[in-house]
Amino acid sequence: MAHPKAERTLVVIKPDGLQRTLVGEIIGRYERLGLKLIGMKLMVPTASHIEKHYNLDPNWKRIVGEKSIEAYQKKGLKPPSMDPLKLGDKVIDSLKKYMTSGPVVAMVWQGAHVVKIIRKVTGGTEPLTSDIGTIRGDFVHDSYQMADTDSRAVRNLIHASGSVDEANNEIKHWFKKEELIGYRLIAEQILYDVNIDGLLE
Ligand code: ADP
Repeated sequence: MAHPKAERTLVVIKPDGLQRTLVGEIIGRYERLGLKLIGMKLMVPTASHIEKHYNLDPNWKRIVGEKSIEAYQKKGLKPPSMDPLKLGDKVIDSLKKYMTSGPVVAMVWQGAHVVKIIRKVTGGTEPLTSDIGTIRGDFVHDSYQMADTDSRAVRNLIHASGSVDEANNEIKHWFKKEELIGYRLIAEQILYDVNIDGLLE
């Protein structure tokens, strides 16, 4: 079994993240956690690339629909539909428009528990209810209600893989093997080495 410090995740800074000139800020948030950037590229994804990305998990459409229904109900509002699959279809269409509207930055980050850590720092899907201190909570204020009113995707700056399995599939979808660079980061010694030798002179 691979060591936990070899865990990887996919992050995509969405078109609004670039337009808000938040690329440096977002990368800085992950860097300061001690995580390692092992792949990065600027690109304009195609609609079919985005459609495939969100269909890598066959349950995604239903889950995204359920999450949105729950968010409405929690706020005491009536969801636009009670059928999660119908809502999921609409979200995929909106996402294709959103994610192909301009350049995005795709990245692979590595480190122990990187999937969970990056999701935590990125914040919940809906910026309106994302915690303060998270990237989404600090820099945007969009909501499901806003997105539905204007028939568009929730603009929340970032995509980050939801689980280790999802991450492995998504990384293969976005990056060729040779685009990822294995290297040692000096800070890893203090983060991960069993013996911390050679500090004192
Ligand atoms: P996350 O990106 O937090 O993992 P999901 O996988 O549930 O969230 O959804 C993918 C993306 O689709 C979200 O980041 C958001 O941009 C958009 N989205 C999700 N639900 C809705 C919705 N009900 N209406 C519009 N856009 C949505």
